[in-house]
Amino acid sequence: MSPLAPGATIGILGGGQLGRLIALAAARLGLKTHVFSDDPDSPAFAVAAHATHATYEDEAALEAFSRSVAVVTYEFENVPARAAEIVSRHAVLRPGARALATTQDRLAEKSFVAGLGLATAPFRGVEDEAGLAAALAAIGAPAVLKTRRFGYDGKGQVTIRPGDDAAAAFAAIGRAPAILEGFVPFAAELSIVAARGLDGGLAAYEACENEHERHILAETRVPAAIGEGTRAAAADIARAIGDALDYVGIFAVELFLVRAADGAERLLVNEIAPRVHNSGHWTDFGAQTSQFEQHVRAIAGWPLGGTKRLGRAVSMTNLIGDAVETVPALLAEEGAHVTLYGKAQARAGRKMGHVTRIAW
Ligand code: AMP
Repeated sequence: MSPLAPGATIGILGGGQLGRLIALAAARLGLKTHVFSDDPDSPAFAVAAHATHATYEDEAALEAFSRSVAVVTYEFENVPARAAEIVSRHAVLRPGARALATTQDRLAEKSFVAGLGLATAPFRGVEDEAGLAAALAAIGAPAVLKTRRFGYDGKGQVTIRPGDDAAAAFAAIGRAPAILEGFVPFAAELSIVAARGLDGGLAAYEACENEHERHILAETRVPAAIGEGTRAAAADIARAIGDALDYVGIFAVELFLVRAADGAERLLVNEIAPRVHNSGHWTDFGAQTSQFEQHVRAIAGWPLGGTKRLGRAVSMTNLIGDAVETVPALLAEEGAHVTLYGKAQARAGRKMGHVTRIAW
């Protein structure tokens, strides 16, 4: 495949803040974007040259969209398989359908990761109550029961503690096909964001440390407070996953850091996001190339940019719900980089923007 021509149009499935930030990065590189979303209030519509408002089941709309662009990417991993298939008939989809299929289903994802010889929490698939009882017997409590599909930010998951009613836990996730995972007593949650180019080259950012509040990412910090060996191990994990998926574009791997009594560190893979990721927002202003530009470069078949951190340390804080009211103060803060997503209403739990700070 030849590299994208200057001025070409990139199609983006999904119109949230991630799509918006990809579109802005594309524009800076002289490329146009066409955003496809089922939400008329999509934040990405405001910054794209073309917008299609239609459902992901609308085959005619998907076909017209795909024919209008040089390459299609996505900003969320729950693109229906059928929609991905239609798009792939008329355009190049990057990352490919395999990345979607693997990461949409937590059981397929964990099995894939374990198949690469990478460490994960112990897990079992759960189809019904008997299956849950068997999985609990094998894994033990505490354990985390998660729906296989459509879970994010802690939705569709419940922790089962010793003595808890397993049937009630299964009911709480709607008795949907699920995965039971052993509860990981992690010392920290990390992630690594990396891009893989069309030529198979990998450009990984350094691993970062993530703080969640009520299951939603609150803050990302780099450098993570981890040993050199762990830093290298995170990059090795990203490479193994990127290569195995023959991936093109940005992806994030969420990791649990487990620290033994003697201080020895171990990484367990929790989840793969086949897209730009909230824990990579620090790279915008905080690294040589932002994850959004890097994604555009990768799917365009262009050379990848540098991934080095700028400054001694970088933090990214999400502005969630009412926190958006602190924006005037943040704008007055020297060196604070404020990014807002252009969402009209600040509902509780809604990501409204983020602020990146660099310590020099
Ligand atoms: P997930 O949707 O898989 O990213 O999980 C959301 C959050 O739940 C994670 O960021 C962790 O804080 C927590 N969590 C998920 N799985 C586990 C696990 N197996 N052990 C401990 N905590 C977990």
